Amino acid sequence: MTKPVGIVAGGGLVGLTLALALHQKGFKVTVYEAVPKIMPLGVGINLLPHSVKSLAKLGLLEELRSVAIETSSLAYYSEDGKQIWKEPRGIAGGYDVPQFSIHRGDFHMILLKAVRERLGDDAVKTNHRLENFVQDENGVTATFTDSEGQETVAEVTADYLIGADGINSRMRRILYPDEGPPHYSGQMLWRGVSEIDPYLDGRSMFMAGHNDLKLVAYPIRKEAADRGKSYVNWIAERRIPSDLAERQGDWNKEGLLEEFASHFSDWDLGWLDIQNLYENAISIHKFPMIDRNPIPKWTFDRITLMGDAAHAMYPNGSNGVSQGVLDAMTFADLMEEGGDITDILQKYEDERREVTSRIVLANRETGPEKVMQMVHEQCPGTCGEVHTCIDPDTLEEVATAYKKLAGFHAGTLNTSK
Ligand SMILES: Cc1cc2nc3c(=O)[nH]c(=O)nc-3n(C[C@H](O)[C@H](O)[C@H](O)COP(=O)(O)OP(=O)(O)OC[C@H]3O[C@@H](n4cnc5c(N)ncnc54)[C@H](O)[C@@H]3O)c2cc1C
Repeated sequence: MTKPVGIVAGGGLVGLTLALALHQKGFKVTVYEAVPKIMPLGVGINLLPHSVKSLAKLGLLEELRSVAIETSSLAYYSEDGKQIWKEPRGIAGGYDVPQFSIHRGDFHMILLKAVRERLGDDAVKTNHRLENFVQDENGVTATFTDSEGQETVAEVTADYLIGADGINSRMRRILYPDEGPPHYSGQMLWRGVSEIDPYLDGRSMFMAGHNDLKLVAYPIRKEAADRGKSYVNWIAERRIPSDLAERQGDWNKEGLLEEFASHFSDWDLGWLDIQNLYENAISIHKFPMIDRNPIPKWTFDRITLMGDAAHAMYPNGSNGVSQGVLDAMTFADLMEEGGDITDILQKYEDERREVTSRIVLANRETGPEKVMQMVHEQCPGTCGEVHTCIDPDTLEEVATAYKKLAGFHAGTLNTSK
């Protein structure tokens, strides 16, 4: 029997991971990406151990290790620098693989290089924007335009089509034309990178504040650490109203220091000068905290959704890309098991849709970060260096419940294949 041949719309982090996973199992696949040239865009992201385990299976562990920071711990603080919760991460947290904090562009380039080396240059076709598709019992035909949507550049037929085209997915809009813009949390994020002197152990991720004003930061480049510096990704988060255009989410929108920095002027963490961090920004992007409502169906015969197109989520819990990597690996595993392609696509949805929908909703409740809001609301102001106002069992419970939901609890992950 001939093996099913696939089309992937979207050469982002998930589309490229999927191409590598399918190729490893001997399947032919071509990725069609809208932009004319894939560039190393964005700032920091976290690869949690469940996705690192998958990326290690794809042979990318050493390359990731050579550019990323191996995250040693995750800690939550109130704005006066008092610790709420701290847990070891990656190898230090008892996992058999690291957690990586990495520049999204660095990760994207690692994936792109691997796809081009293993599948060939033709495996990723840029300047191909998915416009539409039709399907029948024999196959699916996708139509692509140039990046501007001006003229049709290709019509391609294959056995199946996967929409990995991000939070503003064209494929999802065709399937759900009445869905409208993403769901806005009420919080605006200013994402920046700054090179500064190391703080804490130079490998820690921390969050401070509460639901209305928060700072998240973690170093992301090994090259800077090797020079004795920290290349820090930071996210300043403020609750503000936002107009419809801004709520759509444009990853290239520039952010301004004066829009957020002064709101943090009375914060004193003790071990990090926050204003110095902001003032040393190499770049700042403004992106709303948005997600998409869970939908009742991803798979329609020969087509399905994957990654952000399927389950865009708030960044609380640092799970967005990791869940997309799990989608890709699940689909490739099911392809290896074989069967009718429409059944494989449906099985993929059955394995991934409900669990990722639950994570989307858990992240709306701020995921594991909700302990920061609990302290903000409940602390009587008498705690010492470490908050004792929340019962340690409750803190442990929140952290463990989220790890189990998102699939990276060390106890189960280390024993999985
Ligand atoms: C430019 C950019 C910068 C980002 N920066 C950050 C960041 O700093 N931190 C963070 O946490 N997350 C960032 N993200 C989002 C993050 O990459 C995703 O949340 C996550 O990795 C899921 O990956 P994905 O492949 O599903 O989506 P994405 O990585 O968003 O990839 C989707 C891809 O589909 C392409 N595409 C869109 N429409 C079409 C179409 N009609 N036809 C074909 N291709 C199409 C896009 O150009 C993009 O390459 C960024 C995304 C982008 C596109």
